[in-house]
Amino acid sequence: MSRCGGLKVACGALDQRGVEGLLREASKGLAELVPADLFRHVLVDVLDGLLSSPWLLTLFAFVTVSAALRTVRGLMHRGRGHDQRRTFSKSQRSELFARAGHRCEQYSWLFGRCRESERLHADHVHPHSRGGATVVENGQVLCQRHNKRKSAGVPWNWQLDRLARRRKGYFPPGAVTTVARYGSASTGVAA
Ligand SMILES: [Zn+2]
Repeated sequence: MSRCGGLKVACGALDQRGVEGLLREASKGLAELVPADLFRHVLVDVLDGLLSSPWLLTLFAFVTVSAALRTVRGLMHRGRGHDQRRTFSKSQRSELFARAGHRCEQYSWLFGRCRESERLHADHVHPHSRGGATVVENGQVLCQRHNKRKSAGVPWNWQLDRLARRRKGYFPPGAVTTVARYGSASTGVAA
């Protein structure tokens, strides 16, 4: 009796050569999907997309350059010794929270100052891991969300200047608004 039994038509279509052909086609298809090839296709698609939209290309260049700069700045500050104390003391935290009005100090150009006033954290403006001192002058108040989102990036001087300027709007009179990364003396005070 035939191997195919009653399915003569289907079996006839899938004779030895037919099956071999199918296998050959399938393996050719798989060969086209090897990771290296797939990666190349995706890369070409992405580059095509970037080159066809100038604003996207600009954004991509900006993000890439920013990331490179952050890495370089991080490496430059890595050699500096760490403050032996990593966490702010209770009295430092009280001072940080009081001068910030018990509210997160994170600011965005679009939404202004964050309104969160609960689950606040005392945070190093210049990261402790990059040599930032655990002193009130290098502290700021961040909510849980913004504290989590903040990486160990070293802030630029212009960012510190902007923070100091904003602080003049909410720090109590006489409080020092400038950041001292390494705990040195500060000059700016709130009016
Ligand atoms: Zn916040």
